[in-house]
Amino acid sequence: MRWDEAQEFPRAVFRKLGELGFLGILFPEAYGGSGLSYLDYAAIVEEIARVDGSVALALAAHNSLGSNHIFQFGTETQRQRYMPRLTSGEWLAAWGLTEPEAGSDSGGTKTTAVRDGSEWVLNGSKNFITNASVAGVAVLMAVTDSSKGRHGISSFIVELDNPGIRVGKKENKLGMRASDTCTLVMEDCRIPAENLLGRLGDGWVDSMTILDGGRIGIAALSVGIARGAYEAALAYSRERRQFGRPICEFEAIRFYLAEMATEIDAARLLTERAAAAKEAGEPVTRFSAQAKLYASEAAVRITDRALQIHGGYGFIKDFPVEKFYRDVKLCTIGEGTSEIQKLVIAKSILSDAS
Ligand SMILES: Cc1cc2nc3c(=O)[nH]c(=O)nc-3n(C[C@H](O)[C@H](O)[C@H](O)COP(=O)(O)OP(=O)(O)OC[C@H]3O[C@@H](n4cnc5c(N)ncnc54)[C@H](O)[C@@H]3O)c2cc1C
Repeated sequence: MRWDEAQEFPRAVFRKLGELGFLGILFPEAYGGSGLSYLDYAAIVEEIARVDGSVALALAAHNSLGSNHIFQFGTETQRQRYMPRLTSGEWLAAWGLTEPEAGSDSGGTKTTAVRDGSEWVLNGSKNFITNASVAGVAVLMAVTDSSKGRHGISSFIVELDNPGIRVGKKENKLGMRASDTCTLVMEDCRIPAENLLGRLGDGWVDSMTILDGGRIGIAALSVGIARGAYEAALAYSRERRQFGRPICEFEAIRFYLAEMATEIDAARLLTERAAAAKEAGEPVTRFSAQAKLYASEAAVRITDRALQIHGGYGFIKDFPVEKFYRDVKLCTIGEGTSEIQKLVIAKSILSDAS
């Protein structure tokens, strides 16, 4: 709560997460990673989110967006340079697709990258970037050929001590306030030609692959926050007495608890299905969108019920439930809104049908 009120990113916690191997969950030991699976990853994100959504969000953005993009699409030289620093936590990773005019429509990226001899020169800005002011490196998407639409967007690795990139506005947020969310501004930001990540023109397509994995993390984040709120409400309902008995003896409260527990299990099962498919190398776009859609919307309902079970005490900051209620809303927005998940799911259903 102290970090939340001060909007303070808990750096000391991230040093410990690095020591525990939680900043390289998905990567092979050869790169300093923990060599764990997507199922393990989901379990770790859930357990951390059950206590603090902000830490889990920053951890998820580091592991499954920034670091994973470098690991999955990087050359061996790029992996060798960045992965050991990222898996140890020496550097955190940020990942920037969103721009002021390119949110859900991420193909509308305006940031440009122009080749100049042995360098690329980036100009533009990225907003709402998790870890932006605390990261050592960012993966950023920029237009390299404006005549090709989405297929003219490429990905780049930008080290954040580069004088051509600066951290802009830090957002003052409803929830997830201990996570770092800032704008990144590139003004003639020169990076070596070898910092192109993946193939020229594949940046947007690669980003969609990265989001397929990332959404499993947001689903797990939702399950964790929902569980934290549910567990607090369950305990409270057994202690709080009204009309001469614990409120958990009233049918209305029992039904809330039953619905919450069932939705948490359903959300986790969808998350685990997506994680298992990802681990098996099977198509995961639909499964991860379904997990993210259901888990995040269910988690919003569950934190609302948890607050209601607390009555007036749910509305004050002496109890943890109001923070879960605020934090969870991000889950229906980040890494694609619920509306965008429905478009993704419907596209998959209809293409299967035809
Ligand atoms: C705390 C936080 C952290 C974030 N971290 C990152 C990060 O690390 N990296 C990054 O790149 N981005 C990040 N984001 C950005 C996030 O992914 C975007 O906010 C999100 O994709 C939505 O884009 P937008 O905010 O521009 O909303 P818009 O796209 O403007 O959407 C506004 C509304 O219109 C709806 N809408 C838009 N298009 C359609 C459509 N075709 N059909 C139906 N409805 C539609 C949306 O669902 C939404 O309800 C973060 C955002 C937040 C708030």
